[in-house]
Amino acid sequence: MSDLSTVLKRLEAATQRLEEMVSGTRASAPSAPGASPASSAEAPAALPLSVIEFDALLDAHFRAFESKAQAVGGLVSDQVASLAAALKAQREFILLASKAKKPAQTDLPALLAPTQTHLEAVIKLRESSRSSPLFNHLSIVSEGIPALGWVAVEPTPVPYIGEMKDAAQFYSNRVIKEYRDKDKNHVEFAQLFTVLLTELQAYVKKFHTTGVAWNMKGGDAKSLAASAPAASSAPAPAGGAPPPPPPPSAAQLEKFGGAASAPAAASASLFSALNKEGLTSGLRKVDKSEMTHKNPELRATSVVAAAPSKPAAAAPKFGGAVASKAPPKCALEGSKWVVENYFNSAEPIVIENPELRHTVYIYNCQNSTIQVKGKVNAVTLDNCKKSGLLLESVVSTVDVVNCKSVQVQITGKAPTVAIDKTDGCQVYLSKESVANGAEVEVLTAMSSECNVLVDGEGEDGGFVERAVPEQIKNTVKAGKMESSIESDVWIIVHGKVYDVTNFLADHPGGKKVLLKVAGTDASKQFDQFHNAAVLDKFGPDLLKGSIGGAAEVPAPVAETAADAELVGTESGESFGDLVPFGDPYWYQDWGSPFYNQTHRKLRSYVRNFVEKEIMPFCHEWDEAKAVPKSLFKKAAQAGLLPCMVGSHWPTEYAPVPPPVGIKPEEFDAFHPLVVCDELCRTGSGGVAWGLVGGMGIGLPPIIHFGSPEMKARVVPQVLSGDKFICLAITEPYAGSDVANLKCEAKKTPDGKHFIVNGEKKWITNGVFADYFTVACRTGDEGMGGLSLLLIERTMPGVTTRQMNCSGVWASGTSYVTFEDVKVPVENLIGKENKGFKCIMYNFNNERMGIAMQATRFARVCYEDAMKYAHKRKTFGKLLIDHPVIRNKFAHMARKIEATHAWMEILLYQSQTMDPDLQMLKLGGPVALLKAQSTQTFEYCAREAAQIFGGLAYSRGGQAERVERLYREVRAYAIPGGSEEIMLELGIRQSLKVAEFMGSKM
Ligand SMILES: Cc1cc2nc3c(=O)[nH]c(=O)nc-3n(C[C@H](O)[C@H](O)[C@H](O)COP(=O)(O)OP(=O)(O)OC[C@H]3O[C@@H](n4cnc5c(N)ncnc54)[C@H](O)[C@@H]3O)c2cc1C
Repeated sequence: MSDLSTVLKRLEAATQRLEEMVSGTRASAPSAPGASPASSAEAPAALPLSVIEFDALLDAHFRAFESKAQAVGGLVSDQVASLAAALKAQREFILLASKAKKPAQTDLPALLAPTQTHLEAVIKLRESSRSSPLFNHLSIVSEGIPALGWVAVEPTPVPYIGEMKDAAQFYSNRVIKEYRDKDKNHVEFAQLFTVLLTELQAYVKKFHTTGVAWNMKGGDAKSLAASAPAASSAPAPAGGAPPPPPPPSAAQLEKFGGAASAPAAASASLFSALNKEGLTSGLRKVDKSEMTHKNPELRATSVVAAAPSKPAAAAPKFGGAVASKAPPKCALEGSKWVVENYFNSAEPIVIENPELRHTVYIYNCQNSTIQVKGKVNAVTLDNCKKSGLLLESVVSTVDVVNCKSVQVQITGKAPTVAIDKTDGCQVYLSKESVANGAEVEVLTAMSSECNVLVDGEGEDGGFVERAVPEQIKNTVKAGKMESSIESDVWIIVHGKVYDVTNFLADHPGGKKVLLKVAGTDASKQFDQFHNAAVLDKFGPDLLKGSIGGAAEVPAPVAETAADAELVGTESGESFGDLVPFGDPYWYQDWGSPFYNQTHRKLRSYVRNFVEKEIMPFCHEWDEAKAVPKSLFKKAAQAGLLPCMVGSHWPTEYAPVPPPVGIKPEEFDAFHPLVVCDELCRTGSGGVAWGLVGGMGIGLPPIIHFGSPEMKARVVPQVLSGDKFICLAITEPYAGSDVANLKCEAKKTPDGKHFIVNGEKKWITNGVFADYFTVACRTGDEGMGGLSLLLIERTMPGVTTRQMNCSGVWASGTSYVTFEDVKVPVENLIGKENKGFKCIMYNFNNERMGIAMQATRFARVCYEDAMKYAHKRKTFGKLLIDHPVIRNKFAHMARKIEATHAWMEILLYQSQTMDPDLQMLKLGGPVALLKAQSTQTFEYCAREAAQIFGGLAYSRGGQAERVERLYREVRAYAIPGGSEEIMLELGIRQSLKVAEFMGSKM
């Protein structure tokens, strides 16, 4: 209770301060159009558009609402004072965003704390006033205010606001019903709050389509926030305002679920207060039709480039005007004429003598005519049906959007007419508009039955009709229509604008698909048919800019992955897409004893590398059956190759120190896991093995058993990406049964060389390897007669050929032949006839590596299928809404998590247990883990492919990773010890150990 009174006291102080500030602003700039209660010290000219429009929104819509709240009075006006403070805090946050780079997740809670404080006050007031006769009124604001949380919602903040608006609507309806015949102030209070949220939605859609538009070129948000005048330190009225209330203490915030100092995710912090029991008890249950995950179309965020701020319909329907019971209105609000809700108006609605700077926004009219007498800046006709617009001239654009059967007649000039999502539009152009070579651009998108009629061009000197193709750009020049369908074709995907003109011919789905969405926000269609890597690959070349405020300039792309920012590096910070079970638990801010900050930094670093250097090209490389050599160099320079040869950093041979400042002595068994795990997000065994497969198994025998000369010569070359190595054990005659190998190495009589003859099969990286770590028979039959030799490609008699396999194409699986290859005895690895031990020595390491890869691949299958299940509808439902499909995910998840946990505990043993004991004690469990991981992978690949249906049967496209991985399952289940052998070994060896330790069985 004391917390509540503290917050209320703070709120009162803040409100008082705000009121003083508002009156101060008004006093100093009484007539500034668009000046809002939130306007602070900045001159409007210095403000970014996103802030100016936010101010305009507050000025036009919050002020009207506020005055109604004051008319209602009592607790309602108290609550609205908190709302004012919350909006002001949000305005300061948007201003900050326009000047600052996107901050780290950990910094967001502090930046959002002011908004959160006021938001909590609004909700608390309602909760503590349940017996108030104004409870429904308080509930409207309390239910709707979480809409301000859009700042923490990515990438679909707009539908989120819609959900909150709908929640508030429930109480609005009650108030309207109760007061309809009693007091119109109450009715308007309820209506205006909906308008406020609708306007907020339109504003966010325009400036922050996929989330807050940070300024990529801006400064550090934390420092800017610290140096900026505090939210409540706007111009003080004469006499001096009382100092702003101090920020809430961490303890206070924590009590309310906030955590100013705790490194929690921003959204968690912002909404934690809302999630407290009691605070949300009155929440209306959101109907299924309102859930965005059940209605992906709600996530669609189409962007109309130059349209002025507008009250979008709650659920705009293509071409369908929505009837409304709202009163008709024709009024000048700031510099905007708003004409709305006219039905069957007998008289035309006339706007007389508008100013050039005015815009006209006509909304939700039916069977009515609107006339604009004079020249205005722009006109928008939105959501109207069977209506006419007669206007003289516009400076910029006439927008017709979401309309049905409308007519627009321009008697003067209009350079551009944009028709969007409209069925049936007749545009009448005057002679003047095309006189003296003047052009009118008619842009159409997702519209049908549009005609342009040009005056004076008909045979009788009257109008001639030109049908507008359903394309994007048509120019009416000298009375003729020129359609430039394939030039200047641009689309918007997730807030970014791409010029796809030169990509039309290359688009795998054909150019028509692109032309159909040209000039529109095609995010929804894009997500439906592509995976995100497509944009990574083609996007940079096609990118022209981005939608929304300060982020209009494309972000400078980091030159190398090393330049890219590291994220999720603090304990408790989450990382990745947060698809449940799509990443290991420690990615989702779960505590773990195995990972520290070095692992978190490495994780982000490798992700940057993989997303920049590998992900976009995976499909291409796999199809080409080769990884470019340059990738090895880049991975070496990034310090990634040395991460893959064991649990110690090979200081003496590595070309660079460990990445992200890890000290060599800090490097542990979990660092290779992080690298391997992130690398395998590519969902390509071919690329993963192509890059590190041969090295991971071929180089360790040299590092552990090679002569000093051999190590010094070979290891640095391989770790630098200059030379490549592979392990050649398996033969056409023997695979699992290693002790029966036949490849023969006979010593020359002078004892200086071995002469090697034999074949090796399925050798990873063999196609391009320079070095071969080869198991040969130098002695008698059985394991006691085997030796390991380093054979070099330059030695005469070595030939390799690529094998035709079902998967891992880019890894260079090869058939290797040795014919009388003369190998110096110095190339013996370890001791003669002791090769079997050298082979076995690295088996645990190799099998752990396979388990790491297989487990991540299982996750990739799960993750891609999960994302797809949220998009694909069958029988009227999303796949994820079918219990049978959820059951598949449940089984995948339990297998993946069990495998991962087992892997971590065994890995921990590998860095804590005596190495000699490891050979004995870990061999069995690691063998079982290998089988467990590959069977989990196989299961997930099968189930994911099934969820994708036909898509997983064709290469490339949305199911690209799943289709490929499904083909690669056997490449994990067989090498490194195939499943039957592993299961047998696992139990047999564990029994031996148990016996040795005195087990009572
Ligand atoms: C993609 C890929 C990459 C590879 N890379 C390399 C490489 O880089 N270097 C290399 O040396 N080798 C490599 N191999 C070869 C791999 O190590 C062998 O394929 C593997 O050891 C199995 O040998 P095999 O194919 O001869 O099968 P076999 O040993 O002939 O076994 C055939 C089947 O019978 C089962 N089986 C065998 N014996 C028993 C038993 N006693 N009880 C029950 N079941 C049994 C096996 O589990 C298997 O399912 C690779 C293989 C693949 C597919």
